Amino acid sequence: MSAPPGQFARELAGLDLAGLAERSRSTSRAQVDALLRRVAPAAADPGRPAPAHSVLNLADLAVALSPVAGERLEELARAARATTLRRFGRAVRLFAPLYVSNACLSSCTYCGFAKGLPVVRRTLDVDEVEAEGRLLAERGFRHLLLVSGEHRIEVSADYLVAVVERLRPLFPSLSIETQTWSDDTYARLVRAGLEGVVHYQETYDRARYAAVHVSGWKRDYDRRLSSFERAASAGARRLGIGALLGLGPDWRADVLALGAHAAFLSRRYWRTEVSVALPRMKPSASGLAPLVEVGDAEFVQAYSALRLFGPDLALSLSTREPPPMRDGLVRIAVTTMSAGSSTEPGGYAAPGTAGEQFSISDERSPAEIDAMLVAAGYEPVWKDAFPLYGENLAVRSY
Ligand code: SF4
Repeated sequence: MSAPPGQFARELAGLDLAGLAERSRSTSRAQVDALLRRVAPAAADPGRPAPAHSVLNLADLAVALSPVAGERLEELARAARATTLRRFGRAVRLFAPLYVSNACLSSCTYCGFAKGLPVVRRTLDVDEVEAEGRLLAERGFRHLLLVSGEHRIEVSADYLVAVVERLRPLFPSLSIETQTWSDDTYARLVRAGLEGVVHYQETYDRARYAAVHVSGWKRDYDRRLSSFERAASAGARRLGIGALLGLGPDWRADVLALGAHAAFLSRRYWRTEVSVALPRMKPSASGLAPLVEVGDAEFVQAYSALRLFGPDLALSLSTREPPPMRDGLVRIAVTTMSAGSSTEPGGYAAPGTAGEQFSISDERSPAEIDAMLVAAGYEPVWKDAFPLYGENLAVRSY
């Protein structure tokens, strides 16, 4: 049975995304001029607060994503960089994904873990997860993202709670990127020490979503879309959303929907950090080719536009992208990045023993990413979370 639509689904249904995307494609040079004039004063002096008139709405985001704005990419990126510096300074948070299982009962046509694909399956037991976690802790990570396929027996709620409880002493910030859960399970995970929940909608286009999510739990568009409302209500302090660029028929429409989603979550759960990622489709065991190619310039434009639209959003970038792209985007818009990643269960201790979800393009070690950031004048942030669990706040004085 399908889940009832959540509050954002109802808001999304009232948005004319196709119309906004069409307006984006037909944006005039005068509209781009006007937008750049609004954001340029902020770019001129990153030390000064942004003027109120520079707050962008969805129609402005459509202009920033337009082909004509793409011709002014350097100016757009410069304004985005100034916004990032003003809101975040030169700090970039580093995290590592830890794949606990590649077992999956869902069939998503773009994924190397899809049910039925002939990949070696493995689910780590809690001791093996801890061993992987210790390796990552030794490499400096304090922000960990636990990733799995969707297999409610092998990766059950009880299993995840046990994993979170085991890793909590090692990692002050633990997030999950797994199947979606009920309110009760999100609440149990938060009580166990979970901080963040990441679920990418992949594409906000309902017809394309139905076509690529052939079977399984993930096929339910509305359950997935409303998962953030359940997770945030249960106490999750970080929410991660994203769209897989190239999967949907119109990448601009997906970025516009993502912007609307981020704005909704930021407004409704204002004490919760919202982060946004724009992974591009990569080769995987699925063999599915992108429906549309998103070129490098368009990719940079999408990140720049999102930064101008959501100055407070954490923008995340994974090792799917090659070093020059990652090094460039960190100077423009990105504030959170993974490093030294493996996308197979057990892949840090024993690479090559299970199937990977997708191939990575930035194979630099965490130490090399740290050195790159320092050389560029940025501060790598390995830890910015200070859990309060179990502390007697009443007797502490500061
Ligand atoms: S995207 Fe997630 S649910 Fe879909 S096949 Fe891959 S691991 Fe399974």
